[in-house]
Amino acid sequence: MRWLFALLLIVLALPALAEGPKPGGHPRSGLARVDLTHSAIAAEGRDRGRPRPLDLTLTISQPVPYRVYFLDGPPRLVVDFREVDFSGARTGDLTGADLVPDLRWGRFRPGWSRMVVELPGPYALRRAQQVPARGGAQGALFALRIEPVDQDEFVTRGHALSALWDLPQPALDAAAAAPGPADRPLRIAIDPGHGGHDPGAQVGAISEAAVMLGFATELAEELTRAGFEVLPTRKDDSFIPLERRMTIARAGQADLFISLHADALPAGEAAGLSIYTWNQDADDRATRELAMRHDPSDLVSGLDLARTDDQVVDVLMDLARLETQPRSEGFAKFVVLELRQAGIGMHRQPVRGAAFSVLKSPDIPSVLIELGFLTDPGDRANLFDPDWRAGTSRAIARAVSGWAQDDIARAGLSRK
Ligand SMILES: [Zn+2]
Repeated sequence: MRWLFALLLIVLALPALAEGPKPGGHPRSGLARVDLTHSAIAAEGRDRGRPRPLDLTLTISQPVPYRVYFLDGPPRLVVDFREVDFSGARTGDLTGADLVPDLRWGRFRPGWSRMVVELPGPYALRRAQQVPARGGAQGALFALRIEPVDQDEFVTRGHALSALWDLPQPALDAAAAAPGPADRPLRIAIDPGHGGHDPGAQVGAISEAAVMLGFATELAEELTRAGFEVLPTRKDDSFIPLERRMTIARAGQADLFISLHADALPAGEAAGLSIYTWNQDADDRATRELAMRHDPSDLVSGLDLARTDDQVVDVLMDLARLETQPRSEGFAKFVVLELRQAGIGMHRQPVRGAAFSVLKSPDIPSVLIELGFLTDPGDRANLFDPDWRAGTSRAIARAVSGWAQDDIARAGLSRK
């Protein structure tokens, strides 16, 4: 259900856009432009001093991928567009702009534009669509319908860090106020690999599932001590499908997802700790082999998108990941940095990409840490050494702290 909601929020109008320009290669002249003369905010019903249903229409010179979500404190609607040129378009010139407490728009990071509509109360999205422009205008009409709801029905995007990205460049609109600090500790989803009828790698009586559960418990304690909230995807030896692991993280509004593994590979092929981030195109043999182990075919789905066109889903995922992927990679770098400082040995190429389904969450920075390989005697000794485990947990917790600070700083920079 949660995912359906997320899908609703990340909306793409036209599958044809799959062939559209990639971020970065976006020619400035080809940017979609907003046409304010064919755009408006309209309220339904009489003004009785209470929030009313609102219709927002924007005419843009060409259809663009977009996504819609809400934030609270104050309640606001955020629409991210794959870039729309708002330059020269003054928010005060939009018909009906006075129906909302505040309205801002602008470019907020390369390839993306953002519109923030402050709302008179909590709302829910009823409809979002892009259709051919009407009334003689060229391009596409982006139409959005939102309706007032009770506070407890107000569903906001829960990521504290994303909330910091809320505002377009202040230069575009002086009314932009700095957001408050995140109102809760960072929440880290810890995902001990395998479990239940899937023991993972096995060497003698040792199973990866059991070793990872033990390590996850120690890491959770370390993170809790460091002031973070921990959200485990499993607490015992039960089988949790991959998609469920991501759903748990999303439902719990995790800010970061760390999957823990210690797989098996034929002797000599792999040894040492390594950190994986999502990469669909990774194709070295060992990585492929690991991906197969992690993704028995009945679990490959990752997310339940059965009723959605594959191509559209891929584009949606890519769009959302534009923002998440650099954050995942950023975290991996912090892990390497801290492990190095702690003198903990790693694979000679410690950060790699892999198409592990569990890393597929488009909206939560995710890494998979192979703590070592159970098939390697040195790695096995490490995993059974309490000092090594404590040092590694501490280093990962420090990496989370360093990354969080860096991430907030970057989010702040993107608004300047
Ligand atoms: Zn594994």
